[in-house]
Amino acid sequence: MTTLYIVLPCYKEEEALPLSAPKLKEKLLSLIDKNKISDDSRILFVNDGSKDGTWRIINELHEQDRHFTGISLSRNRGHQNALLAGLETAAKYADAIISMDVDLQDDIGAVDEMLEKFEAGCDVVYGVRKARKKDSFFKRFTAEGFYKIINKMGGDIVFNHADYRLMSKRAVNALGEYKECNLFLRGLVPMIGFKSDIVLYERDKRVAGESKYPLKKMLAFAYDGVTSLTLTPLKFIRRAGIFFTLTGVLGLAATITLFCLSIASSVWIVISSLVTMGGILEFSLGIVGDYVGKTYFEVKHRPRYFIAENLLEE
Ligand code: UDP
Ligand code: MG
Repeated sequence: MTTLYIVLPCYKEEEALPLSAPKLKEKLLSLIDKNKISDDSRILFVNDGSKDGTWRIINELHEQDRHFTGISLSRNRGHQNALLAGLETAAKYADAIISMDVDLQDDIGAVDEMLEKFEAGCDVVYGVRKARKKDSFFKRFTAEGFYKIINKMGGDIVFNHADYRLMSKRAVNALGEYKECNLFLRGLVPMIGFKSDIVLYERDKRVAGESKYPLKKMLAFAYDGVTSLTLTPLKFIRRAGIFFTLTGVLGLAATITLFCLSIASSVWIVISSLVTMGGILEFSLGIVGDYVGKTYFEVKHRPRYFIAENLLEE
């Protein structure tokens, strides 16, 4: 029988945890009762270096019921690293691992269907949001635009899928072979291959607490995704460079002609085109710099996380 681990990264989630834990337990126990998963299945919380009561609550839950367990990272490493730590830990014990956020925005009702697809031979089952009715127009527009842009640039991510997914043990082990420290899991998982499918679900509001992804962090994450998956921005810069060089040469020729004919003082045209070119060059250099910077961090092969405490090894 399948042993299932549900992995939930938690950062300062003392408000959401007491509300979501009973719902998660109910789901896990109902699946055990229906003989769909083994009694060794667990809900694995990953404390991502929270300084509030998150780890204390996880410990209390573990003492109350052995179906709850947890690991605690040595410090805050961010959602993607925390998730990877949970997946890799769970893969030591589980046949199938489902990742989701602790705020239960992702409908846990979809777990049954994910399991069915796993039993039918899928190694990866992506949770895909049906509609974004509960998102604001701005969130919907930016989020859907992000998927479209990244795929246009050559990335291969599943439309409207975040990090709610089921992975088999071997899929997680394969993911572990990707050693990069700039993690963008939803871009990496489709690269693994194996048989996959999707499950549609409705995304809800947070049960409690605040989003740890404000607009600034969301944009940074999207930019990180693009630069992790594709070199298209660099190619775009090269083409833009050719275009502006040609335009510049033509502009210069026109300016010299105007000047020789004493039709107008073209000094302002020159100044404004210099400023524009300077801006474009600096912007382009910035993007190139980001790629170089990322490479710099990758070649260091720094560890992605350390587990400080592990309730599974008690
Ligand atoms: N999270 C984490 N480490 C961080 C930030 C967030 O483990 O540094 C967790 C957080 O507790 C939650 C999940 O990642 O379970 C997603 O975060 P959130 O719900 O705030 O993001 P949103 O759904 O608003 O994009
Ligand atoms: Mg959330």
